[in-house]
Amino acid sequence: MRDTIEMAKDIWVGDVQAGKYDNETVELKGWIKRARGSNKIRFVVLRDSTGEIQCVGKRDALGDDEFDSLKNSIIETSVILTGVVNVDDRASGGHELTITSVEIVGPVNPEKPFPITESAMSAADGGETEFLLDNRHLYLRTSRMTTMLKIRSTVFGAIHSYFRNLDFLEYQAPNFVAGAVEGGSTLFEVPYFGKKAYLTQSWQLYAEAAMPALERLYTIAPSFRAEKSRTRRHLTEFWHAEMEIAWASNAEVMEHGEGLVRHIAKTLLEERSTELESLGRNLDDIRRFADTPFPRISYDEAVRRLQEKGVEIEWGEDLDYSKEKILTQDFDVPHFLTNYPKIAKPFYHRVNPEDDKYVLCHDLLAPEGYGEIIGGGERTWSEHEILQRLEEEGGPTDAYQFYIDTRSYGGVPHGGFGLGVDRVVSWLSGADHIREVIPFPRDSRRVTP
Ligand code: ATP
Ligand code: MG
Repeated sequence: MRDTIEMAKDIWVGDVQAGKYDNETVELKGWIKRARGSNKIRFVVLRDSTGEIQCVGKRDALGDDEFDSLKNSIIETSVILTGVVNVDDRASGGHELTITSVEIVGPVNPEKPFPITESAMSAADGGETEFLLDNRHLYLRTSRMTTMLKIRSTVFGAIHSYFRNLDFLEYQAPNFVAGAVEGGSTLFEVPYFGKKAYLTQSWQLYAEAAMPALERLYTIAPSFRAEKSRTRRHLTEFWHAEMEIAWASNAEVMEHGEGLVRHIAKTLLEERSTELESLGRNLDDIRRFADTPFPRISYDEAVRRLQEKGVEIEWGEDLDYSKEKILTQDFDVPHFLTNYPKIAKPFYHRVNPEDDKYVLCHDLLAPEGYGEIIGGGERTWSEHEILQRLEEEGGPTDAYQFYIDTRSYGGVPHGGFGLGVDRVVSWLSGADHIREVIPFPRDSRRVTP
C-alpha cells in the first residue's frame, strides 16, 4: 500500500511533466542524462524511471559550491535536485525546473565517463553492436532499452492477468530435468552430482502431471535450448508462457492462444502507447492485432501456398523460419497453422484419430515476417498411445516413466501451448532482433555480462 509506506522518493519526473506540481517546489531524485552550459548557468536533463525534465541552475542563485558541484557532474551522476516547477511550452514535456539546491549522490569520475555515448548509439542504428552487448549492464538505462523493458513488463503483466481472470492457477515445474521435451539436439547438459541432468526446454511435461489436480494451469518461466545457430528469434534462455488445460480440444486451446495474444496487444495499447510510438510502431497495427480474428490454415494448405510461390518444400518437413517468413506475407494479423504431419512433431502431440498421418496441433505465426510465437495442441493422453508414440521415436523411455504413469491413472483429453514471451515483445515492439527486448540476452556466443 503506497500511502502506508514512507517512501524515500515520492515525486516522479513523469508526474511533474503531467502537470501535478506546477509552480510548486519539488525534490527530484534521478540521474543526469545530458548537461551543458557556461560558468554561470547550467542546463541539465534529469531522468528517472518515469521520464525526463530539463533543469536550470544559475551560479547567482545556487552559490559557488553547489553550482560547481552541478557543473562538475557528468552524464549518469546521480543527484537530488530541489527546485520550482515552471510551466514552459518551449521545454520538452512542457515543464522546466529552476534549481534551488543541488546534492550529488553518486558521482562519476570524469576520467572514466559513461561509455554509452550518442555516437556509440548512432553507430548501432537502433540495433545492437558487440560494444553495446558488452556494456549491456550500462546500456539498460538508455531510453531505447528502458522503453523495451517497460513494454516487456506490461506483456508479462498481461499474460498473468489473462490467465488469472479465467481462473487458471499458476504452477511451477523444475528447471533441472532428466529428459527432453523438444528433442535431444537442443538439450543443455549439466553435471549433477556425478550424474547428468538437463536444463528444462519446457514446463509442459511436469504441467501435465499436475493437470488432473489443477485442471487449468499456466506459468511464465525460463526455458533453455542449446540453439547453435544464431537467428533473430532464438535465444538459449528465453521466457516461456505455457498453459495446460484438462478436457480441452486443439480448437479450445487455440481460442486461448488467440485470446491471450489479443489481450496482450490490447493491454499494450492501454498502458504503453507512448512507448510503442516512440519506437516508431504504428498503433493502428497493434489495434488490428487486438481486434481482428486470427485466420487458420492447415499445414497442407501452407505447403500448397509455399509451392505456389516457388519455394522448395516437401510434405512432412517442419517449417523453418525462412518458410514461415514467406507465409506471413499473406496475412496482416497473426494466423494459425494446424494439423502438422506426425513425422514433423515430437511424441507428445496427439495423433488425429481420423487420419493418423497428422497430429492435432497448431503454431501461431506473427505477421510482418516474425513467424512462430506459439506452439501447441492436444496431448497424447491414453496410456497405449503414449507407449506407442515413444516406441516409434525409438529413444530411451526411463526419463518419461512419470509421464507414462500420469496416463495410467485416469488419463483425460487435454492440451496446451507455449508462447515465446521474448518473441512476442520483439514483434509487438517492432524490434529487428530478439536480443533487443531481453535485458541480458544469451546465445551460443554470449553468457556475459
Ligand atoms: P522454432 O521452430 O522457432 O525454433 P519451436 O517449434 O522449437 O520454435 P516450441 O517448442 O513450439 O518452439 O516452443 C514454443 C514457443 O517458444 C515457440 O513458439 C516460440 O515462441 C518460443 N521459443 C522456442 N524456442 C525459442 C528460442 N530458442 N528462443 C526464443 N523463443 C523460443
Ligand atoms: Mg513449435
